[in-house]
Amino acid sequence: MSKPSPEVYEEGKGMDAHNSVMRDIRSRNDSTYDPREPTRVWLDEDNTPDGVYQSLTIILNTGGCRWARAGGCTMCGYVAESVEGGTVAHEDLMAQIQHCLDHEAENSDEQSGLIKIYTSGSFLDEREVPAETRQAIAETFADRERIVVESLPDFVDEETVGDFVDVGLETDVAVGLETATDRVRHDCVNKYFDFADFEAASEAAQAAGAGVKAYLLMKPPFLSEAEAVEDMKRSVRRCAAVDGCHTVSMNPCNVQRYTMVEELYHDGGYRPPWLWSVAEVLESTADEDVIVVSDPVGHGSDRGPHNCGDCDDKVQRAIKDFDLRQDPSVFEQVSCECEATWDAVIERERSYSLPLAR
Ligand code: SF4
Ligand SMILES: [Zn+2]
Repeated sequence: MSKPSPEVYEEGKGMDAHNSVMRDIRSRNDSTYDPREPTRVWLDEDNTPDGVYQSLTIILNTGGCRWARAGGCTMCGYVAESVEGGTVAHEDLMAQIQHCLDHEAENSDEQSGLIKIYTSGSFLDEREVPAETRQAIAETFADRERIVVESLPDFVDEETVGDFVDVGLETDVAVGLETATDRVRHDCVNKYFDFADFEAASEAAQAAGAGVKAYLLMKPPFLSEAEAVEDMKRSVRRCAAVDGCHTVSMNPCNVQRYTMVEELYHDGGYRPPWLWSVAEVLESTADEDVIVVSDPVGHGSDRGPHNCGDCDDKVQRAIKDFDLRQDPSVFEQVSCECEATWDAVIERERSYSLPLAR
């Protein structure tokens, strides 16, 4: 991969300490990847304002996130999957798209109504995906119903988003907001923008005829379980109040390789959230006028969100059921003895490093 370097525009945002640690951790990764293969592609089902669609999710392998090059977010290992050199040519990116279309044709009889495109950074950043490629991708999927493209708020404007709206696609911009609390976003996630930037990006997306999907991160490092739950409840509510933000994807943190979270995890300073915490947030915010979904990646494993080991699959199924139906009663049907442990954790766990007793 390309080595993260400090000489980028993100310097001087007042976050140099976290960035310096993250650069050091990331530089231990020396894997390289083929620029003509996407990072990942899969078929799934998704809930949208127009109902449930079969979805084709594509993680394009681009030159990687600018912010990650400066150091980047404490939990994010995506840049570790980027390609050597920092940029991927138009032809290679289109070869990746073709690979995804082949995957869809081989694994499904129907075309997916929904296309979701993520990168190891921002799809709308022209340094990652040139305008020419963005337009060609819009043309390629013009016969589908909806598209979601991921971007940091900086790159959301009428021109970038307009390419998709103009070919007749219902378009959503997915923004990795992580939390509505600026202090948590800055100090725990090490992400540089503010909630006000998210609001401005939502306004820009709306002006271009698109909607917004906010991605939230449950339990970044340095928060206790109870603080993480409260942070998510507050964040879902604040997102629901933003014009144009019709969906929130609230995802529990998992331990990715070459990240600060992984360092803390190995040193006994981090545990991914409980699945009961995910259920608690979904249940308590179900009355908000916004679709809230969650995809607990790595559920049931030590590095992913987990309960006791016995009930993880059951609770995960309830969460997936909630995603499609938005009915909080699905959680009444799951229970386990470990809820008592979770209750005790919520009550007693304090922020990172605060001793329980002197
Ligand atoms: S979470 Fe997003 S902004 Fe942060 S380092 Fe990863 S790709 Fe970049
Ligand atoms: Zn259990």
